Amino acid sequence: MGTAAERREELKAVWHQAQACTKCPQLAATRQTVVFGSGNADADLMFVGEAPGANEDKQGLPFVGQAGRLLDTLLSEIGLSREDVFVANVLKCRPPGNRDPLPQEIDACQDYLFRQLELIEPRVVCTLGNFATKLLRGDPTGITRLHGREELRQIGPRRVRLYPIYHPAAALYTPKMLETLREDFGRLPGLLALDPPEQPEPAPELVIPEPEIAVAAAEDEREPEPAAQLGLF
Ligand code: URA
Repeated sequence: MGTAAERREELKAVWHQAQACTKCPQLAATRQTVVFGSGNADADLMFVGEAPGANEDKQGLPFVGQAGRLLDTLLSEIGLSREDVFVANVLKCRPPGNRDPLPQEIDACQDYLFRQLELIEPRVVCTLGNFATKLLRGDPTGITRLHGREELRQIGPRRVRLYPIYHPAAALYTPKMLETLREDFGRLPGLLALDPPEQPEPAPELVIPEPEIAVAAAEDEREPEPAAQLGLF
């Protein structure tokens, strides 16, 4: 799409837009901050959680509570840190009382997530729990059936390896689930080592042919391309 620096600038513009968002009047009225997401704007690995909780709402950062500490531990066990990845949520604002996101809130907020995915260009998108998995797969199949198995999926204009795993909050108090989450996490380095998913051909641009005489003249004047330039494309 553009250079990493250009994509990051666009991401900042989307951040600004989200800061002023009032598409969900209840969430806009009760939030302290809009939790856009954080990390490496050019990450190969992006995590998508559900929605900010109380700590996240206060600090304006995703996954800073107990579930976030578990995420950090699991990341460090595979040799990664928050600076290597990007972490975002389905909803950018905290649902009061940590209730589940409502369908109309997910609808209203999803463009921010899709823009993030388009601009960060991750190869692997790891959905944490049901809400992110259902939204990004566009299908109601639950996480229990899907976790730990990667799929190639087109999300917006790009193909990614989608990798659903349990939400860290669900694993906090259930040792068996934590074990499964740890095993699933352990497959991430292997997924990141695979070739990037092949991207769909961009839609062809409409080219209006120039009159033949003009083309012929342009061809006469064209410099031979330097060999180094050919190597770039
Ligand atoms: N749970 C989430 O899904 N997201 C957060 O940011 C924190 C907890």
